[in-house]
Amino acid sequence: MKLIFASSNKHKADEIRQVLGESIQIILPSDLGYTKEIPETGTTLEENAWIKAIAIFEQFHLPVIADDTGLEVEALNGAPGVYSARFAGENATFNDNCNLLLHKLKGVSNRKAAFKTVICFLDENNRKHLFHGVVKGEILEHFSGEGGFGYDPVFRPEGYSKTFAEMTLEEKNKISHRALAIQKFQSFIQAMERHER
Ligand code: IMP
Repeated sequence: MKLIFASSNKHKADEIRQVLGESIQIILPSDLGYTKEIPETGTTLEENAWIKAIAIFEQFHLPVIADDTGLEVEALNGAPGVYSARFAGENATFNDNCNLLLHKLKGVSNRKAAFKTVICFLDENNRKHLFHGVVKGEILEHFSGEGGFGYDPVFRPEGYSKTFAEMTLEEKNKISHRALAIQKFQSFIQAMERHER
């Protein structure tokens, strides 16, 4: 099966390819010459994932998945949430966002947080299917680790001694929010294929 992943984030594409293995061929819009930024104008993760998926579906009329992820911090009433990419401003870097988060949590003892991912799959008939993945954890007081991206250096998943940025891709992919959502998508596709046989 060939699937477009509506993203320009190569880290995410690697994570998704690693989880899905060889059964599904993931291509990026840029592989097809599409380089436009799709504005994430939704107010929920579900809406943003669909906005990205439908923009690509309307262009290529092929099955598409898109994801949207937010980091919800308990002491910040769920912020940055759907605004995680732009927490420190429109053109904020991953570093800027992490620094602002650490600044806002300075002296705060409740460090609980959760990553939430929504995957929106549009099949060849433009039917929408949503899959969710959540990982609970805590925000450290400083950066730790060089791997991953985004908030990985400041997020330690519950029950682990390493941040996501200290884990290998294989380790992160066993437990991450996106991997959980992708695994649900994969089970759905496998069930659909069994049904069609
Ligand atoms: P997106 O809209 O799904 O790209 O995610 C919004 C923001 O959440 C990104 O810009 C990253 O800062 C952050 N993010 C998404 N996924 C991850 C992850 O797996 N680890 C750390 N940060 C992430």
